[in-house]
Amino acid sequence: MISEVSDTAETVTFPAKPYSYQGELKKLWQQPLRLFRLANALREKSCGDVVSFVINRNINFTNECTGTCKFCSFKHNSIYFLTGEQILQRTAEAERLGATEICLQGGLAPKMHLEDYCQILELIHRDFPRMHLHAYSPMEVLHMSQNSGVEVNDALQELKKSGLGSMPGTAAEILVDIVRQKICPNKLNTQKWRQIIMAAHDLGIPTTSTMLFGHVESIDDRLCHLQILKEIQQETGGFTEMVLLPFIADNNMLGKIAKGADLLDRLKMHALARVALYPNITNIQASWTKLGRESAAAALDWGANDLGGTLMDEGIARNSREAPSISAEELSELIEGRGKRAVQRTTLYERA
Ligand code: SF4
Repeated sequence: MISEVSDTAETVTFPAKPYSYQGELKKLWQQPLRLFRLANALREKSCGDVVSFVINRNINFTNECTGTCKFCSFKHNSIYFLTGEQILQRTAEAERLGATEICLQGGLAPKMHLEDYCQILELIHRDFPRMHLHAYSPMEVLHMSQNSGVEVNDALQELKKSGLGSMPGTAAEILVDIVRQKICPNKLNTQKWRQIIMAAHDLGIPTTSTMLFGHVESIDDRLCHLQILKEIQQETGGFTEMVLLPFIADNNMLGKIAKGADLLDRLKMHALARVALYPNITNIQASWTKLGRESAAAALDWGANDLGGTLMDEGIARNSREAPSISAEELSELIEGRGKRAVQRTTLYERA
């Protein structure tokens, strides 16, 4: 049982059975003060006063996509494909600004095959061998495997040979198929997402874990999602972090029926993730692009210990009041403004 909330987290233990796990966490959700104090105590126990960030750049190599996700704000009109030269140019700019990671994600372009995805990795890896390549969601891995008629495991091995360092655990949205049917009916289902993530972990490819929340899902759906992530982590240990992604209602179909979670709900969700995933997933990331800078900084008092990356571009969806980039200095100021110690990290949570 989650027996006590105190200034230390010494008394916190977790029940073994999922039902009890869900029941306890659901009760905690109704008590924000208790939830907050517990999450903050667990953050401190896990990470001390350190809050991390990474200097990275997102490169969205194409926006062509056959997907039909109802929450997507990624532009489908005027399709583009970045050339190899443009990708290298952006990587070189990122390197000059101190980036240690390039994050590559794109739409599901119907003519892109496994070899095209490998070529992008090889291109960057050839000229920037020390740059960590964090690339391709489970949905993209499935897409390239199907387009090329190869097994997911073989595709992952090829990507790794081409320089893949880790994968974003995006496309998870909410890992409850009934919810997925409503918001992204053509996307891979829960079982497939889990299978691809675990295959990556088995091959030594770490991934992040994510949750898109604040649309049509219930608190039970959120808890079910967290339970799945916890189980995977207990088995593989391959998740580097959990990234909370509040749904942004601007410029997408889902925004017509769902307005997105309010600030209290968003902050509570970071706290709930910290408590639910403790002690298996140490790093809980607040996304400044989605929450906005000040709210992301506030989440550092609600269980989060990481502010993600500088990004330099982010094409998928962001808070419309936010610029597409933030500097390392600005991230450090936000962190220090909350009385924490700012540390630049690598993708895999080593000190940069
Ligand atoms: S979320 Fe990704 S897969 Fe879905 S429509 Fe948008 S770009 Fe395509």
